[in-house]
Amino acid sequence: MARYTDPVCRLCRRSGEKLYLKGEKCFTNKCPFERRPYPPGQHGLTRKSSKMSIYGQQLREKQKVKWMYGMLEGQFKRFFRMAERMPGDTGENFLSLLERRLDNVVFRAGFAKSRRQARQFVRHGHVRVNGKRVDIPSYIVKPGETVEIDETFKNNPEVQSAVSMQKSIPAWLEVDSERLSAKVLRVPQRSDITHPINERLIVEFYSR
Ligand code: SF4
Repeated sequence: MARYTDPVCRLCRRSGEKLYLKGEKCFTNKCPFERRPYPPGQHGLTRKSSKMSIYGQQLREKQKVKWMYGMLEGQFKRFFRMAERMPGDTGENFLSLLERRLDNVVFRAGFAKSRRQARQFVRHGHVRVNGKRVDIPSYIVKPGETVEIDETFKNNPEVQSAVSMQKSIPAWLEVDSERLSAKVLRVPQRSDITHPINERLIVEFYSR
């Protein structure tokens, strides 16, 4: 399955904000964005001051959210089209669907340090949904379903290290840190997503 394999810190610098893609490193002074908060490349500093068009703003917001959730364009757009077909606000539906991706649920529950690591755990078959192994990171977890780290993987140092990190658990998840399981209580609402995202720009981008 295709995935982004280039250095991810470039994506934060390209977005102009920290996307927290590397786990612990993002909270230390080793974070490259802290030292070079401008776009990568030879002309990064000069581009920083240039004024951005409406299209540029829409594209940047779309790219930012896509990178945050570790997705490639085809799948990201497929999620968007799915959100369009749902009743209610497309932008909110879209974010809600992204939040319920299995890799994101593993990350939000605090069982992985980053979505990237959570995706790896899922792909390697270390995650169960309602007791059954699911190795598809884009699987959409439904309310009432329980996500659990496989018994054989619970003592993995990376999992244990992730669990020991202080993290706020969203209200739509009920986490049992002893059993390393998390139950999705309800569909995530817009107010549950605290990272600054302007989903209206993404809706406008795909409605062009
Ligand atoms: Fe972004 Fe984290 Fe890299 Fe900093 S360390 S640039 S926040 S991915």
